[in-house]
Amino acid sequence: MAIASVNPATGQTLATFTAHTAEQIEAALATAAATADTYRHTSFADRSAGLRAAADLLDADIDTLAATMTAEMGKTLAAARAEVSKCAKGLRFYAQHAKAMLADEAADAAAVGASRAFHRFAPLGVVLAVMPWNFPLWQVIRFAAPALMAGNVGLLKHASNVPQTALYLGDLFARAGLPAGAFQTLLIGSDAVDAVISDPRVAAATLTGSEGAGRSVGVSAGKALKKVVLELGGSDPFVVLPSADLAAAARVATVARCQNNGQSCIAAKRFIVHTDVYDAFTELFTAAMAAQKVGDPTDPDTVVGPLATEQGRTDVIELVDDATAKGATVLTGGTVPDGPGWFYPPTVIADITPAMRIYAEETFGPVASLYRATDLDDALRIANDSVFGLGSNVWTTDAGEIERCIDELQAGQVFVNGMTTSYPEIAFGGIKTSGHGRELANYGMLEFCNIKTVWVA
Ligand code: NAP
Repeated sequence: MAIASVNPATGQTLATFTAHTAEQIEAALATAAATADTYRHTSFADRSAGLRAAADLLDADIDTLAATMTAEMGKTLAAARAEVSKCAKGLRFYAQHAKAMLADEAADAAAVGASRAFHRFAPLGVVLAVMPWNFPLWQVIRFAAPALMAGNVGLLKHASNVPQTALYLGDLFARAGLPAGAFQTLLIGSDAVDAVISDPRVAAATLTGSEGAGRSVGVSAGKALKKVVLELGGSDPFVVLPSADLAAAARVATVARCQNNGQSCIAAKRFIVHTDVYDAFTELFTAAMAAQKVGDPTDPDTVVGPLATEQGRTDVIELVDDATAKGATVLTGGTVPDGPGWFYPPTVIADITPAMRIYAEETFGPVASLYRATDLDDALRIANDSVFGLGSNVWTTDAGEIERCIDELQAGQVFVNGMTTSYPEIAFGGIKTSGHGRELANYGMLEFCNIKTVWVA
């Protein structure tokens, strides 16, 4: 895949980049390894100062950075600005809390016959991050902030369609006062990832992206026997039960499905509605989806911009066409607009059967699948009948139903009467083919730590 910024609202190529040569990759690896040896001995105070300065830079650069993100991958300018602010907050969160999160953790010394026993959290070293374009800043910062606070150094291989954001990130931490080798961007294609993971100077890897990329990076890490975190796709259920506030559920469902132009791993994608409220919810939800303004992502009134790539839109078209050919009903949307750019309208589809691809595959665009459930058991059956297990949502005011859903939804996250969102304060990740490992909170930081057991006689 060419390394290029192509504006998805117009199809116009904005800039192209040459992939780093073998010599440049070697130089980055050598710098990263040398920096890892010294950076691990820096104080929390110095690391925190670097992260806080990086947060200040994001605040200062918000106008140009948000405009770059919108130009490269099509999210609305408002969403891009919100993402920049969220990243600044995430950096400050880890700058403030990492020291306490990584403090030595005492164990029961008497029970193990020691005078002292504890766990110490030491950095692993150089970590490669392979990242997607959909949240081009946040996906990277939510890896970088905890990894850097734990004393690791980072190498970023970003998605090939967001090179300008990638280059910005490659400079950010050096501008903020951290050593130049603490965080570097490699402009490389996916075919160069295996060699970097195999390099003895790289200790671990993390990938956020599709199932296919996850399998590939998982194989590379497995071959090299290296730690890997995989944050992959999702097809999150959004279960609506009879006691739910239907107006609120329909409003939030619309945001959940349309945010980021429908391209979020934790977007609700399958709307599973109890038969008693199916018609009422469907009416509200379909009307709200139809009312979303699609268009120029730089226009403040736009809610849904273009899909990030032409291939991404083709994938969505094919899923919808397959479903309709097999008998699904399109309640709104479903028609590709004329004109330049890779736009696709908010779409609601009903009467879906397991024979349709959309039943099982992730829909990475603003297309909602509706399912009618006969009761809670049936809703849970449909929700869990998926290879994915990233986020999940349930809408009900019944305490017993809430407890059952928390227990029985097969997902890394359960959000009750709300939509799945990531926060630095709580863990993020999935099960099944949505990946393994966690990001955010203390769990994300511990993924790239050697949990060193210390026993003193
Ligand atoms: P993608 O095609 O898998 O790309 C993600 C990253 O992996 C890019 O940097 C890509 O590089 C690289 N890559 C692709 N194939 C690879 C391979 N065989 N070996 C090594 N690296 C490879 O995914 P995307 O289209 O950018 O993002 C959408 C997917 O990411 C969706 O499935 C979405 O659900 C998932 N996602 C998951 C999370 C989460 O936290 N669970 C968050 C956001 C997105 P190139 O660009 O050079 O191909």
